[in-house]
Formats: sequence, C-alpha cells, structure tokens
Amino acid sequence: MNPKSVVDHLDPEGAPVDLTTFGTVRETCPKCQNHHLNLILRQTNVRFAHLFCTECASCFDARYPDGAPALTI
Ligand SMILES: [Zn+2]
Repeated sequence: MNPKSVVDHLDPEGAPVDLTTFGTVRETCPKCQNHHLNLILRQTNVRFAHLFCTECASCFDARYPDGAPALTI
C-alpha cells in the first residue's frame, strides 16, 4: 500500500505528522521478513487502521483476504 493513501500528510498548518502506535502485532513484514509490524489505529492524520513497518516504512492493509476489516473499532 502507498503510505500516502493511508496517512494524510497534507496538514494545512504544517504540523508534523504525529503517529500513535498501539504496539506491535504478531504479523511480520513481508519485505523485512522478521520485523514485526506496528498497529496504527485511525487517528487525526490516519484515514483508517492499518499495519505499519517501522523498518521499511511500508503500510499494510489490515484486512482479511475476503475483504473484511481485521481491525474493528
Ligand atoms: Zn518492512
């Protein structure tokens, strides 16, 4: 996933994007192999909950293969 499609960087006031993570999850990054992903829930600059790899800065959709959201709030 493109991080820009998930996180809104276009803050009109130019404030730095402040991400709040909710800990690491069991899933690991497909690119980094054994780096665990961080759970990012929906917040000010985040359009929907997703999983984020701090190692390669990749975002991953938190959905099951059938399209159902894996994260419900
Ligand atoms: Zn990664």
